[in-house]
Amino acid sequence: MGASRSLLSLSHDELKQFVIAQKLPSYRADQIWKWLYAEWAGSWQDMTNLPAALRDQLAEKISVMPVEKTDISVEESGTTKLVVKLHDGHLLEQVLIPSRERRTVCVSSQVGCKRFCVFCASGKKGLMRDLDAGEMVGQVLIAAREWGKRPTNVVYMGIGEPLDNYDEVLKSIRILNDSEGLGVGARKITISTCGIVPGIKRLSEEGLQVELSVSLHAAEDELRSRLMPVNRDYPLDVLIPECRRYTEKTGRIITFEYTLAEGVNDKRLHAQRLARLLAGFKCRVNLIPLSAVEGSEWRSVENEHAKKFSEILQESGLNCTLRLSKGSTLKAACGQLSPQFA
Ligand code: SAH
Repeated sequence: MGASRSLLSLSHDELKQFVIAQKLPSYRADQIWKWLYAEWAGSWQDMTNLPAALRDQLAEKISVMPVEKTDISVEESGTTKLVVKLHDGHLLEQVLIPSRERRTVCVSSQVGCKRFCVFCASGKKGLMRDLDAGEMVGQVLIAAREWGKRPTNVVYMGIGEPLDNYDEVLKSIRILNDSEGLGVGARKITISTCGIVPGIKRLSEEGLQVELSVSLHAAEDELRSRLMPVNRDYPLDVLIPECRRYTEKTGRIITFEYTLAEGVNDKRLHAQRLARLLAGFKCRVNLIPLSAVEGSEWRSVENEHAKKFSEILQESGLNCTLRLSKGSTLKAACGQLSPQFA
């Protein structure tokens, strides 16, 4: 796999500049781009309409794929967990979620995470490093090859906090969104954040039509700070007004994720507080029963109980959905993915 910088971290324009810097005609950039995003080529050797000597020359300069699939397990539902190796040996877990009308790839943005949400496995050992754009684009191409079809949806809900790796995440989105490349529609791309307020503000100014999910999990500061230490930096009276501004500015509706943990945030009182916090705000709430994480004291709720919680929200006028988690037999559900540091 070679050097860390790969072709997949280059935008179409940067690839043209790279090709020109190698004193090659610019049409070579279009050829290479097509190999990457129409043919899903995994190596220079795959690019058969480039002369062999040129392929060898370019391979010395830059690698093609920065990530490599090393293991795969498939659930009956079709949900697939892959283990992906990075050039420096770190391992990430990646999830492919097919449904009748979609093929969704769940992408990791960091090796580990520095936010330490208490019920999440991804950040248990802290943050090792950020991924670069190519390592995120590479995860989507691995999925394309696995399915033999173009992924339709990309969610930045794997390992890591995407807004803590803002520039590279945005760059990867622009590469995935390129209409001459994979062409994943911006509205089919979701960034999920634990609530990094400056990142949400920046995102509102990008003019991108991406979907934004904000992980809430509690509607009062004391409990939220306990579950999500990031709340001490960006408490609810800062986060929620920023979310409202985001919607006013972009016209995009935010989804608030609320993971239900038994005896922690699942009582009628919690639902009422959530309804009050979001009253009059045009948004969606997505309830997810907690997925068990090994060695953790956090327990999930019964489906019936989750339904009751969602009814309280609906009765108070909130647009609320209950998502029963996929991938739990593979330990590939929300919050269960974990990295292995090299
Ligand atoms: N860092 C981003 C993306 C990560 S995960 C974020 O915080 O949004 C995607 C979702 O899974 C988040 O809402 C996260 O809080 C949630 N999650 C984490 N651990 C979980 C668990 N054990 N069960 C269910 N959801 C969990």
